[in-house]
Amino acid sequence: ETRQEPPNVAVVPTPGMGHLIPLVELARRLVVLHKFAFTFIVPSDGSPMEPQKKLLQGLPAESISSIFLPHLTFHDLPEDSPIEARIASSLIRSLPALRDSLKVLNESTRLVALVVDLFGAEALDLAKEFGVLPYVFFPSSMMVLSSVLYLPKLDESTYCEYRDLPEPIGLPGCVPINGSDLADVLQDRKNEAYKMVLGIAKRYSDVPAGIMVNSFADLEPGAFKASKDGVQLGNNPPVYSVGPLIRSDSAGFAGFDGSEYECLRWLDKQPKGSVLFISFGSGGTLSHEQLKELALGLEMSGQRFLWVVRRPNEKAANANYFNIVQSVKDYDPDYYDFLPNGFLERTKEVGLVVPNWAPQVRVLNHVSTGGFVCHCGWNSVLESIVHGVPLIAWPLYAEQRMNTVLLVDDLKVAFRVKLNEKGLVERQDIAKYAKELIEGEDGKILRSRIKHLKDAASLAMALSKQAVPAGSSTNSLAEVAQIWNNHHKNLPNC
Ligand code: UDP
Repeated sequence: ETRQEPPNVAVVPTPGMGHLIPLVELARRLVVLHKFAFTFIVPSDGSPMEPQKKLLQGLPAESISSIFLPHLTFHDLPEDSPIEARIASSLIRSLPALRDSLKVLNESTRLVALVVDLFGAEALDLAKEFGVLPYVFFPSSMMVLSSVLYLPKLDESTYCEYRDLPEPIGLPGCVPINGSDLADVLQDRKNEAYKMVLGIAKRYSDVPAGIMVNSFADLEPGAFKASKDGVQLGNNPPVYSVGPLIRSDSAGFAGFDGSEYECLRWLDKQPKGSVLFISFGSGGTLSHEQLKELALGLEMSGQRFLWVVRRPNEKAANANYFNIVQSVKDYDPDYYDFLPNGFLERTKEVGLVVPNWAPQVRVLNHVSTGGFVCHCGWNSVLESIVHGVPLIAWPLYAEQRMNTVLLVDDLKVAFRVKLNEKGLVERQDIAKYAKELIEGEDGKILRSRIKHLKDAASLAMALSKQAVPAGSSTNSLAEVAQIWNNHHKNLPNC
């Protein structure tokens, strides 16, 4: 009765802005709607972590505070090890420091739950150690979560690489998917990273008290229903749809020098729905040859475009993942020397290129934006849905091909780019997709479908008000909040 201190929740994000951003939004929503306090305990990814610090330190410290764990290095990992291996090691190497932080928190606050994200399963035992509730926040689709929950079974019943299976794979409640479209980490079953994911998948089935997914019931009804059946069969813990949680505009990255708004002013001057936005997330890069095809394809399409351009990288499509460049400062006029000769001059009436980073949510929210060439990182997908912008799906790495399958084969709100035998998307195809999406009949159909999803997304997140009932995601989050509130294990007087 006397205790008024809000219950505290510890959150451990693994490396990747795509993990941190929705976790921050989850925390903000729980603070506002259910009066929890949050402490983010952040493992190092080996970089200075500036964007992460900016994001977390810009939040109201009385309700959301953060602790950055000691700097780690990864020189001992083989150079070609997948990003997932580095993500998972950053968590495993941080476990001792994490335990120390949790101990202090547990002594000084009313700690009720520990929330980790998809690669954080190894930390869940710490929750048990401190008598708090272990939860997973899954920052991708329910379909991808299904592939994780279903992986142990798939692993047992398959003898070849998944991409060599003659038939598409039927994940419970999901549209069939070719093995080659499963996540990168599932493409080489002999790799340590695959074994690591398999280990995580097995823990998912019995360690967490619940899994929150950044999706909503009406977006993936079949997969959510299958997860409910799974609870009955004892195959998985309760799954809660709590999305779409997307970065609210005010929580954008602070520290821009102002020049990023140039693109918003430019958008103001373009006709409604006429501009194609091109961006490959926080980590995506293209090869030089591919970048050239894209430039020439955009030019050939004759469409208006706003393109976030990064230096080409020949080695990996995720070259930027641990080294996010958000700044547009320090770039010189020669920055664009990798673009085809004369491209900027020839397209200056219809196109704008911005280096490295654009305020994506604002761009998608702008009336002039009519389409999005997207790598299909899940946050970008949700942002596009929330703003009703149809897509050209251009998956690069991680689980982006799975998200593409959901968008193209199931929801039918995107075109999928075709790769030639060299793995390149050709300029004439880019021109065709761009023109069709902005001006064509098929584009219109995609646009009208995604507008329906936009409405459904907004209903899912609705708060109950007089005549309006609370949405499905609001209700699931309230269920979680209630469980957390009722967790009194740590109260000596109860
Ligand atoms: N983003 C942005 N501007 C950019 C590129 C990315 O604001 O130029 C934001 C985007 O809005 C999204 C996040 O960075 O919130 C990227 O997350 P996503 O899951 O789409 O992709 P990832 O970066 O994890 O590959």
